[in-house]
Amino acid sequence: MKTRVKERTVRCEECGFGYIFPIDNRIHAKYHYRYLDATYKFGQLLLYPEREELKQQSWTIFIDECSSDAERIIAVEQLFQSHFSRSVESNNWNLEHPPFETYCLMLLDQKHWKNLLSPWLGLHEALVKKNSNTRSCSSKRAIYGSIPDGKTVWRKPFTLRSKSRRSLHKPTKDGGKSR
Ligand SMILES: [Zn+2]
Repeated sequence: MKTRVKERTVRCEECGFGYIFPIDNRIHAKYHYRYLDATYKFGQLLLYPEREELKQQSWTIFIDECSSDAERIIAVEQLFQSHFSRSVESNNWNLEHPPFETYCLMLLDQKHWKNLLSPWLGLHEALVKKNSNTRSCSSKRAIYGSIPDGKTVWRKPFTLRSKSRRSLHKPTKDGGKSR
């Protein structure tokens, strides 16, 4: 007699995907590989519970009057790490997402963060300098566009979206008559 596997709702501990086992195994596998590819490219990416915990810890250090500038820099970067993970996840683990250092510079460009950091003189400059000095902050930064003030999720700019489509429709010798 053939025994049927009992269906149940599960959540993958590694990628955080919730699904019905075994019906959605394939959907999960696809999602899981996208997640793994993203961690391979961007490094560790935090899932929701870890993100919330890190955010809370970082804010506590950030607003503590006794914290040093060095501690505050780490706290802001951890906050950004948390937002970064959420942003990559919101983009369905898209590998075209800007790298972490570029993402930090995009947030630091915002009025929101400039205002938040303004009580601590030199903190904004120190964070910009730190993230500008890394290898992944390339001259390609402009192609990623910007993140609207106060927002933390990156959205692929239209120019980047249409790039692949444009290359499929290169002008032909007859001056594009085929259009
Ligand atoms: Zn998974």
